[in-house]
Amino acid sequence: MARLVMKFGGTSVADLERIANVAAHVKREVEHGHEVAVVVSAMAGTTNQLVEWTREADRLHDAREYDTVVATGEQVTVGLLSITLQKMGVHARSWLGWQIPIRTDGAHGAARIADIDGTQLMERLGQGQVAVIAGFQGLGPDNRITTLGRGGSDTSAVAIAAAIKADRCDIYTDVDGVYTTDPRIVAKARKLDRISYEEMLEMASLGAKVLQTRSVELAMVHRVRLQVRSSFDAPDAPQFAREDFVPGTLVCDEEEIVEQQVVSGIAYSKDEAKITLVKVEDKPGIAASIFGPLADASINVDMIIQNVSDDGRSTDMTFTVPQAELPRAEEVINKVISGIRCEQVRTDPGVVKVSVIGIGMRSHAGVAQAMFRTLSEKGINIQAITTSEIKISVLIDAEYTELAVRALHSAYGLDSE
Ligand code: ADP
Ligand code: ASP
Ligand code: MG
Repeated sequence: MARLVMKFGGTSVADLERIANVAAHVKREVEHGHEVAVVVSAMAGTTNQLVEWTREADRLHDAREYDTVVATGEQVTVGLLSITLQKMGVHARSWLGWQIPIRTDGAHGAARIADIDGTQLMERLGQGQVAVIAGFQGLGPDNRITTLGRGGSDTSAVAIAAAIKADRCDIYTDVDGVYTTDPRIVAKARKLDRISYEEMLEMASLGAKVLQTRSVELAMVHRVRLQVRSSFDAPDAPQFAREDFVPGTLVCDEEEIVEQQVVSGIAYSKDEAKITLVKVEDKPGIAASIFGPLADASINVDMIIQNVSDDGRSTDMTFTVPQAELPRAEEVINKVISGIRCEQVRTDPGVVKVSVIGIGMRSHAGVAQAMFRTLSEKGINIQAITTSEIKISVLIDAEYTELAVRALHSAYGLDSE
């Protein structure tokens, strides 16, 4: 007997038929004798619609009320799944974030889980009840509802798995595992049997939406065994009866991976915008005067490059910010440049960050060179570069996203036969 967390995303609970399919997956695990906590997202498209309504009501809405609205999607699915499970003869009860409670900090819209009291849940599981828990939501310090940021149900699932000491956290989604790159844009993407926490963390933070970044961080810290698998498999498929069956992709320690590739995956993020300050005066303190106010406004600056101009007296400063923050960043920058010499501010939301990720880079040279060569062969201009121990990212024109990802996927030998 094991204790499992099973998480189902939006497309997996998109309508009543799919919810019945999810219920059959849950029932199978219950019949195998396991204790089961289920975490669900809102039905596909629901959260987008809710977000849109808050924007239409007021573009500068109160963040607390945003959370009050967008957290509702998950309430519908926990209720519907519980009803469906009960109809199938499975003892099930729904739980909203505040009922557990899942305590978070007060950062509405992007809250972080502070603490989950798993006692009551474990008690119920011990009595043979399935807990159906609303993902994405929690309770802030002032007892108001918070949400964990888009894709946050993954994080709810991992945090609950840690709190109830689950043996495994299964993330059921609309693909059958983690691939070398997004299988929706590269048909030759290959499913990975295993990926290390560290690589998955980079993949997620660099744009692979299959897991929310924070969920991987939590899994790594709490040693949660995380498995990404398909919710579209028939719940009664014969392989599920086999004891040794390992579905999808296991996110695990580096030591558990036998054949480590130099490059494990390629990610891209269209969530970038580029800002260039043309001919800024070049003197000590200028960078601080630009990036200080951006940091004070909680705007995350990612890539930065600076080119000294011919006359040696001015410089072009280019950097990227999250696309959603571009209007705020422009506001901050316009205030800053009123106090310094700067010829022009240019902004460009039409950029994409493409990244190559692999733990093997620590011990292999030439990975960056292969990336630059491949892009140049395709005539793709690199606008900025950043690196860390296990990844290289470049900023390119968004128009070339698919061409770049496909070319790099082939160049690093990742294509499936
Ligand atoms: P859910 O609604 O189940 O949370 P998401 O849409 O958040 O599902 O995440 C699954 C999607 O992630 C897939 O449909 C796929 O297009 C995308 N994706 C991006 N990169 C990868 C990758 N490397 N491997 C698998 N899926 C990926
Ligand atoms: N429903 C939320 C979203 O769409 C949370 C999630 O699906 O993980 O972002
Ligand atoms: Mg998701």
